Amino acid sequence: MRYAIVADIHANLAAFTAVLDDIERRGGVEEVWCLGDVVGYGPDPHQCIELLRQYNHICVAGNHDWAAIGKVDTSDFNPDAAAACHWTAQQLSPEDIRYLESLPLVVQRSDFTLVHGSPREPIWEYLLSTDSAKQNFAYFQSQFCLIGHSHVPLVFEYNETGACLFGEFPTDSVLTLAENRLIINPGGIGQPRDGDPRVSYAIYDNEARSITHYRIPYDIGATQSRMTEHGLPRRLVARLSYGA
Ligand code: ZN
Repeated sequence: MRYAIVADIHANLAAFTAVLDDIERRGGVEEVWCLGDVVGYGPDPHQCIELLRQYNHICVAGNHDWAAIGKVDTSDFNPDAAAACHWTAQQLSPEDIRYLESLPLVVQRSDFTLVHGSPREPIWEYLLSTDSAKQNFAYFQSQFCLIGHSHVPLVFEYNETGACLFGEFPTDSVLTLAENRLIINPGGIGQPRDGDPRVSYAIYDNEARSITHYRIPYDIGATQSRMTEHGLPRRLVARLSYGA
């Protein structure tokens, strides 16, 4: 069976729809695994929650999901992120709020642990260095851990010598799951930050024991127009063009 791995949708409906269409084109999946931050930054938080909920899915909580419902305050957010968060809070229906409140911090699924930031600090930690990744291998039991939060596709591998290796996760590359433990980030959907503005996501195939990384274009201008229409911060609108 196949499972979609998606992270950081960030209320970007055009990007999320492009991913769902791409998944259908590839024959569909059994379940969507969402690594948090369904909302925040983008112009369509309610629509993205509604759309995700139409799919057989599991989802963990991200920092923006919690901030939008007041579960954490926005003092750690930069001013643009905080402004978008306050706007987001006003767009949510009572049902959306209940849904975001219900999201767990950690989910186990077969060989995988799903978190937003890191297994050590599920909401806040950015896993971008081998040092912090190495420490985090002690904080989950399963063979593999799926993370989001940094919006950067990457793979950390803990090998038999006890070393932690950093690997990029190139577009269209197939990661074959073997003996070693891995921490995998599929990259971000709604606001990529690795210099490539295209949507980033992955599909896990449990029979092939592999995870394939996909990048696909979407209508960035449509999302930017919606953001401008709603008066969301200009810097957040601009960065979508650069994937930064
Ligand atoms: Zn995010």
